[in-house]
Amino acid sequence: MTFFEQDIMYLPGVGPRKKEVLSRELGINTFGDLLEDYPYKYVDRSKIYPISSLNGEMPYVQVRGRILSFDEFQGQGGKKRVVAHFSDGTGVVDLVWFSGAKYVYKTYHVGEDYIIFGKPGVYSGRYQFAHPDIEDASKIELSKMGMQPYYNTTERMKKLGWSSRSIDKLTKTLVEKLQNIDVPETLPQSVITHFHLVDRKTALTWIHYPKNADETSKARLRLKFEELFFVQLNILRYASDRQHKYRGYIFRHVGALFNDFYAHHLPFELTGAQKRVMHEIRDDMRSGAQMNRLLQGDVGSGKTLVALMTMLIALDNGFQACIMAPTEILAEQHLQTIREFLDGMPIRVELLTGIVKGKRRQKVLDGIADGTIQILVGTHALIEDNVVFQNLGVAVIDEQHRFGVAQRARLWHKNENPPHILVMTATPIPRTLAMTIYGDLEVSVIDELPPGRKPIVTLHKYDNQTTSLYNGIRQQIKLGRQAYIVFPLIKESEKSDLKNLEEGYEALKDIFPEFQLSKVHGKMKAAEKEAEMEKFVKGETQILVATTVIEVGVNVPNASVMVILDADRFGLSQLHQLRGRVGRGADQSFCILVTGYKLSSETRKRIDIMCETNDGFRIAEADLKLRGPGDLEGTQQSGIAFDLKIANLAQDGQLIALAREEAEKVLREDPQGQMAEYQMLWDRLRELRRTNENWSAIS
Ligand code: ADP
Ligand code: MG
Repeated sequence: MTFFEQDIMYLPGVGPRKKEVLSRELGINTFGDLLEDYPYKYVDRSKIYPISSLNGEMPYVQVRGRILSFDEFQGQGGKKRVVAHFSDGTGVVDLVWFSGAKYVYKTYHVGEDYIIFGKPGVYSGRYQFAHPDIEDASKIELSKMGMQPYYNTTERMKKLGWSSRSIDKLTKTLVEKLQNIDVPETLPQSVITHFHLVDRKTALTWIHYPKNADETSKARLRLKFEELFFVQLNILRYASDRQHKYRGYIFRHVGALFNDFYAHHLPFELTGAQKRVMHEIRDDMRSGAQMNRLLQGDVGSGKTLVALMTMLIALDNGFQACIMAPTEILAEQHLQTIREFLDGMPIRVELLTGIVKGKRRQKVLDGIADGTIQILVGTHALIEDNVVFQNLGVAVIDEQHRFGVAQRARLWHKNENPPHILVMTATPIPRTLAMTIYGDLEVSVIDELPPGRKPIVTLHKYDNQTTSLYNGIRQQIKLGRQAYIVFPLIKESEKSDLKNLEEGYEALKDIFPEFQLSKVHGKMKAAEKEAEMEKFVKGETQILVATTVIEVGVNVPNASVMVILDADRFGLSQLHQLRGRVGRGADQSFCILVTGYKLSSETRKRIDIMCETNDGFRIAEADLKLRGPGDLEGTQQSGIAFDLKIANLAQDGQLIALAREEAEKVLREDPQGQMAEYQMLWDRLRELRRTNENWSAIS
């Protein structure tokens, strides 16, 4: 057993009770875990502040002086409070203890030279340090104090009396132990030299106890690089193993169905971007390797058509195809769109979702098994084990961010060979982030909208400006258009939100007595939902009052107004998705974001960027900067990207790219994992896969 694998219980100062807290609250079970529990900030302890310079805004500071006298106060509930008046000659602060009086009197004495470390607070007009760290000044060499690390603790730990200092003390013991052992390198010397990285032992020491900011940044660089490098190596190794393990079906020809569709059924010319992407997909599918391609394209850029043509190529080569959507509404809409496109062609397209039940379901399952159904459209229901294809050649996954890598993997086991996979997403992702989240996929981008689209005009209105808003809607509808009005329903289960929608719907009926309204939300029965949607799609109703169930995919080209109420409750990508429901026809479209007056500065930035641009990539970049990647849709489910301990996908874009390049280089040089120089990498990767649930899930 290595040093890193040793049970944390055997660290002096831990023991079974503390071990349990560390394990439960922070997931720390071994020496290695504690070493990798990095500080989230540092405070410079080489500096002493004059007491006269203190103010209540300061973070942790140090002062040096003497205790003038002690006082005792009787607090509420009969609790005793001990106060020491402390001075450095420039002023006086109070040191306060709410417990442990006996210990205080025994340990600290009037007139001795102390260094106090704490966060200054204000109480009854005086500065004070509550339960400060106190050190004997004669025992401290300031220049050697370095930076004080700060560690995360949970609420429950605080209740049990733990603080950042508790972790600090344990870490200090461990880092001291670390000095006496040989720490094996995890990176090859060539990489260390190339990037001027410090060795692993130094990095692990400095990350906890740097003497200055330079040591902090060197340690961080090394550890971030290492982390990102192994993430990339994991993804690339995985992709390359898969390529060796599985053969891809070879779709040699574009045949009768594709050609007939292209010549006689395609109602418009493909955009340049659509043509380019079709070429990329064609090349993949005849290469002999399994296609794993991510198709990125803004809402309305025409991804569905690309998906359909991809599926037709499979059909032309004697295979079946499926397309999987994240919601029932979207699956139904795909079914309808595809059937319309293929009208008059001898192709059987069927639907399989959770609501397809009983005999109807059995008929679909039979048709899939005997191959008479050529295109299957559905939801998650498609990846269930009882769905057995005769020969699935292509699987399209729409709106990828709701499907994880593991779910994607389940599709491969539907056949002897895995089908070609095309993943489509309308949430553009910054390049460096995509490298990590979708790192095992090739990427195609549709960066061009079909011709004749007018950019959507986005406006911000406050919720007391509804009269002009309603008049605007009225005007548009009188011109023959339709409007969406969206209520926030972040969690479909929240009753209060639903009530909000129901009441809003009733109010809107009174406001627009001259129009017909539809209503859709996630709690409705599927059939009911479908009927309401249907009325809006057919133009029988002019206003669709909805929750975010319409977020993805719904296509009503005649709709030209999107009103989003309480827009501050939506994230950027959600707002962008919702806005994409309009601007699909030839008419000028509008998106109105309604909020209250009081907005946080972050919310204001979100609204501003929405009003400024329709460019999904710019919005994605802004989103990443504002929120950080942990919250971005996709990162949670990706199974690869989250769980980073020190690197940050939002801030370390450049480093991600470098780590990627380096990992690619290693795999190029040592595709079989046999070179002695790189042995440590494969060992480390195996170890990471073994100990990290998320990494092993996909490998
Ligand atoms: P996405 O899925 O990328 O959001 P869709 O595939 O739903 O976009 O396409 C949006 C609309 O644009 C659909 O009505 C579709 O028929 C239409 N469309 C797609 N490609 C073209 C094109 N090349 N020219 C004109 N209209 C197109
Ligand atoms: Mg779509």
